Amino acid sequence: MTQETIAAIATPPGSGGIGIIRISGPDALKVVSGLFGRNDSRAEANLSLESHRMVHGYIFEAASGFVIDEVMLVAMLAPRSYTAEDVVEIQSHSGPFVMKTILNQVLLKGARLAEPGEFTKRAFLNNRIDLTQAEAVADIINARTAGSLKIAASQNTGALRALIEDARTGLIAFLAQVESAIDFPDETEQLISHDQGAATLDRVIAVCQKALQQYEDAHFLRDGVKLVICGAPNVGKSSLMNRLLETERAIVTSVPGTTRDLIEDNVNINGIPFLISDTAGMHQTDDLVEKIGIEKAKTHIQEADLVLFMKEAGAVNFEKEFISVVPPGKKVIVVINKTDLLKTDDVPALPETFDTIPWVGISALENRGIDELRKMITRETVENLENTSSIVPNLRHKLALERAVQRLNDAKHGLEVNREEETLAIDIRNGADYLGQITGDTAGIDILDTIFKNFCIGK
Ligand code: GDP
Repeated sequence: MTQETIAAIATPPGSGGIGIIRISGPDALKVVSGLFGRNDSRAEANLSLESHRMVHGYIFEAASGFVIDEVMLVAMLAPRSYTAEDVVEIQSHSGPFVMKTILNQVLLKGARLAEPGEFTKRAFLNNRIDLTQAEAVADIINARTAGSLKIAASQNTGALRALIEDARTGLIAFLAQVESAIDFPDETEQLISHDQGAATLDRVIAVCQKALQQYEDAHFLRDGVKLVICGAPNVGKSSLMNRLLETERAIVTSVPGTTRDLIEDNVNINGIPFLISDTAGMHQTDDLVEKIGIEKAKTHIQEADLVLFMKEAGAVNFEKEFISVVPPGKKVIVVINKTDLLKTDDVPALPETFDTIPWVGISALENRGIDELRKMITRETVENLENTSSIVPNLRHKLALERAVQRLNDAKHGLEVNREEETLAIDIRNGADYLGQITGDTAGIDILDTIFKNFCIGK
């Protein structure tokens, strides 16, 4: 396939030590010929570079012959490069102006400005990486915690791809049997082994379900845990949010109803990324804006991975409120705030019906008990996580896995009731195609566009 040669600044904007201009495509070397020279007198017209060896030299402005910058240059010749094409990287001083000037020279020599993610897209289209690895590149760049980086790094090695490809290969072998039975209807019995087919379907369904479970168990390491603080107005929700964020993000006042809408922010607690929201206080109100805030809070609590239900120290009889606010089965910690108002030997206690619910006494005002709360939050979140594999599908993979399972269950049922081979083949093919969407083998252009447009330019 003949490709245009593309170029972009690959390092982040702003000033720094080194900036990299990356060029990829069949004319990468031609583009730098006439711009680069090993000594400062002139650019070399027919540049020849050894692959993977850094050379020192200068970038010249083609028209005037003036030196623009002193640089290091490296060529990585196809296929041993990020894109599997000829790649040249120019390491210049990193100032926005000098880098743009160099990039302009490169573009004047015939390269086209790369789109976001286009280098990675080429690595995918040239079969150097699969789609899960391309997504891992974005995840590595965006990782905010050690946990999410670990998952991204594991996916970057192709662990998820290996799993999916293996499952899909088995399906395709079975599909071949079913399709040959369509062509030779008299030999169906000899061509299809029902037992083997059922075993293949069972195995692939089990692989998908395990991956789905891993998504449920650990997706928050990648996506962030949804932590919602709820409780009546004035119990100290905003004060706690600020403590957890270690900033003054939420407004704290003694006027009930100050937090009328949701305030959300990201925070990393003991290596786990959290998306914390401070909700509108739950209470009866006629104020329309407050009402909307309270409705939103309810939805948020439904969707939360973990809820912090707050009460003031000394509060009694709050079972009813608890039951009306926290849906059954929801992971929750009861947080008793304002313990500073208690006499020192008072121990805040919970009603007996709260026996099995974890709780902690804190003072958001005086910053007491917050570390213990942080530990509890971590404990509640990482329960059952010790044995979690580092293969954690993302939401896109999860949806494809669910659809694959649906189709394969249909196929399994079809096999059991001896449905005609044509329908069986369609279900198996659909199942295999959904799995192929994960690795990119059967991903349509719309899926590719959505994935790559979220990348930064230069990656
Ligand atoms: P929210 O309406 O639940 O978000 O509550 P705020 O965080 O806005 O706090 C309401 C009032 O309670 C403010 O005057 C806070 O200073 C006060 N407050 C919050 N936490 C504590 C605490 O631990 N002890 C005491 N004594 N007051 C607190």
